[in-house]
Amino acid sequence: MKISAEEKHQLKTLNKRGIALAAKLGMKPVEIVVSNRRGNTNAFINLSEDKVYVGAGVLMMPEWAQNFIVGHELGHLLRKRSQLIFYKVIGLLVLFIVGGCLSISQAGDINTMATLMMLMIGGLGLNLIVAFASRYEEYHADFVATKLTGRHTLSRVADLYDSDITDDDPWLVKAFSRHPTWSQRVAKHC
Ligand SMILES: [Zn+2]
Repeated sequence: MKISAEEKHQLKTLNKRGIALAAKLGMKPVEIVVSNRRGNTNAFINLSEDKVYVGAGVLMMPEWAQNFIVGHELGHLLRKRSQLIFYKVIGLLVLFIVGGCLSISQAGDINTMATLMMLMIGGLGLNLIVAFASRYEEYHADFVATKLTGRHTLSRVADLYDSDITDDDPWLVKAFSRHPTWSQRVAKHC
């Protein structure tokens, strides 16, 4: 992605701080790269790489917020191995549920409607498990970031973001969300 000279400079200093933060966690240097649209303040990792992707908007955020955001993503990278295993197990469960439902329906004991219902219930159950585990991972990544940047940085960062999910959402929406609400995140660590 094309970025301005100022953003390039910001990215360079962010990378320097990112390396120092990773060293504090006993990690090898991790590269920080710009992922996407100008103004976007998201950050994420890809489980197959040792990189942190940040939206170009992150480069213009205050240094303490950048450190928290990078620290949070480093927290995710620290758990890369267990995350990969978790998703492999989920993949196997999907195959098991689909295979199980199809073989039961082929045995002729139940009709197509019942098979679809079983698949749906299995799918919903797996989604709930993945959402619960993802929220757990978010709390863990926040724990790592607060260890690096101080407990109160989380609540300061929370003030900078609009939430896509809030405490006012129905419990069912929250149960299927892969992210806790910002106030849940702040309550957990501050
Ligand atoms: Zn996260």
